[in-house]
Amino acid sequence: MAENSVVTDVNPSADVTVHRRRVVVIGAGQAGLSAAYFLKRAGLRPGVDLEVLDANPTAGGAWSHRWDALTFDHVNGLHDLPDSRLGAADPAEPARDVVTRYYGRYEQEKGLGVQRPWRVRSVRAVDDPGARFRVVAERPDGALREYAAGAVVSATGTWDQPYVPWYRGRFGGRQLTTRDFTAPGDFAGRRVLVVGGGISAIQFVQLLDEHGVDTLWSTRTPPRWRDCPFDTEAGLGVENRVAARTRAGLRPRSVVAETGLPTSPSVLDAIDRGVLVSRGPIRALTSDGVDFADGTHEAVDVILWATGFRASLSHLAPLGIRERTGGVVMADDDVSVVKAPGVSLVGYGRSASTLGATRAGRRAARRAVDFTADLG
Ligand SMILES: Cc1cc2nc3c(=O)[nH]c(=O)nc-3n(C[C@H](O)[C@H](O)[C@H](O)COP(=O)(O)OP(=O)(O)OC[C@H]3O[C@@H](n4cnc5c(N)ncnc54)[C@H](O)[C@@H]3O)c2cc1C
Repeated sequence: MAENSVVTDVNPSADVTVHRRRVVVIGAGQAGLSAAYFLKRAGLRPGVDLEVLDANPTAGGAWSHRWDALTFDHVNGLHDLPDSRLGAADPAEPARDVVTRYYGRYEQEKGLGVQRPWRVRSVRAVDDPGARFRVVAERPDGALREYAAGAVVSATGTWDQPYVPWYRGRFGGRQLTTRDFTAPGDFAGRRVLVVGGGISAIQFVQLLDEHGVDTLWSTRTPPRWRDCPFDTEAGLGVENRVAARTRAGLRPRSVVAETGLPTSPSVLDAIDRGVLVSRGPIRALTSDGVDFADGTHEAVDVILWATGFRASLSHLAPLGIRERTGGVVMADDDVSVVKAPGVSLVGYGRSASTLGATRAGRRAARRAVDFTADLG
């Protein structure tokens, strides 16, 4: 298949050149870079029999979009990419800048030839000689590329799919999600309701409070404070629970539902001061604020939905792998998609952390190499 790798045929319907690749990796965050590294180590040549496509204009995956105030000392820890060390990072530097620089250096050093900005629009199964999938990618200027691929590793994260729960009523003020947050200064003089029970939500409440913003907090269920350290054993327990869900085709639950919320000294202090105290669930939105389930009403100027994300999988819709539950049935290796042999998901379910993504990238690479052995 590699001999045919440059330009081989033209899609007669759209007049688009089709590039043949043994494996196409979609996404160049921690998960995609790990998979690409192991594919290259297995002998696949980027731009020849391997293509890595990323929708972002720069390196860094979802980290390249995170807000200034999320400094490196506020993240849970970033696992090293394979055969590489992040090394010491300035704790006061935005995590966005640290990670973007690290991933960018990695792509260069490992020669992964990441193609960007190319957003994959669809992956469909085909029965062509020498190819099992057609992958269509689009650049922001509308240019199209099509690939005939033997296997696909999808590592597209969650950042593009913020989840906002539905409530009765209509709010007349500003609404935004975690994805849109830039700086606490944007909310000066405003009254802000932060919604969500995860780590981002508690960080937003604390950050806004530190900047003198009048802030309220709403969670659907009481905050799940963790009273024990999150050690290796606890991490393994979480991974096993997540894997049990995804192997059953259920959608992975929110991170906090599995891990609970950390109680650092600053968090305990904010709880004591009444800052990190949830008003409980919202019952309905109103033009000037919200009605809470306890019957009280609060007027606010802004609602910040820190209510999590869903996996970005819309490009895989033609494969019909989504269950009614919204999940995908995963095999016991936690990367292979049962209903689409030759397709791996990395950074999904059990591997939705920088540690999990790094390990899963290796497994997905091995699966893709094995699956395409007759094409290599
Ligand atoms: C606020 C926040 C803080 C977090 N903090 C931590 C932490 O401290 N430690 C930790 O381990 N984890 C953390 N996580 C989870 C973390 O983001 C992941 O563990 C990891 O970075 C995700 O890597 P990824 O490669 O799966 O996804 P991403 O980093 O999201 O990368 C996916 C890439 O795929 C691209 N893409 C998406 N769709 C397409 C498409 N259709 N075609 C082409 N490209 C596409 C995107 O542009 C992106 O570059 C955090 C998550 C959030 C939301």
